[in-house]
Amino acid sequence: MSLSSLLPAFGEAIRCPCCNHPIPALVLTNAYLCPRHGLFEVSVAEDGIIHLGSGRHWRFWQGQWYRQHQQVESLRAEIFAALDHLHHQGFYATGITLAQRYRKLVTPYVESRSDWFRQVYYSKLRLFGLPVTFQPDTQTGSRWQVIAFELAKKLGSPKTYRYFVCTRMNEGLRK
Ligand SMILES: [Zn+2]
Repeated sequence: MSLSSLLPAFGEAIRCPCCNHPIPALVLTNAYLCPRHGLFEVSVAEDGIIHLGSGRHWRFWQGQWYRQHQQVESLRAEIFAALDHLHHQGFYATGITLAQRYRKLVTPYVESRSDWFRQVYYSKLRLFGLPVTFQPDTQTGSRWQVIAFELAKKLGSPKTYRYFVCTRMNEGLRK
């Protein structure tokens, strides 16, 4: 019996999706152990790993783990963190493209923030004041099955910092 047959699907070690440190597989189990973040179990059905403490789920794409969201709050928090990160790199976001698989999760949430009038007359989805579109139907490659969103960005500071607070409520009034 070879060693690899005793190891979980991602091999001897992975990077912890929380702290990015290399963490070892536990031989004869289906899990990896981070001393700081605990156990991550390989889920063949979900094609990724699941954090046993919290149920959070990640998939792997080109050297990185991508969180798979079950709730809109966690997706929103990840987008917020990415916007913040972008800002610290000297860019600002001009739009958000979301994976199709989050359409159902996000649409009611975003729309519920607007009244029916605005929905009819300004029927654009927005999150953090940024226009939201979904992954084009022509791009159904495996990348979009893993990543949650992409940000369109430009170099420089945003004219306003509106997207650091959710300002969708006021936006239509100024038009
Ligand atoms: Zn960790």
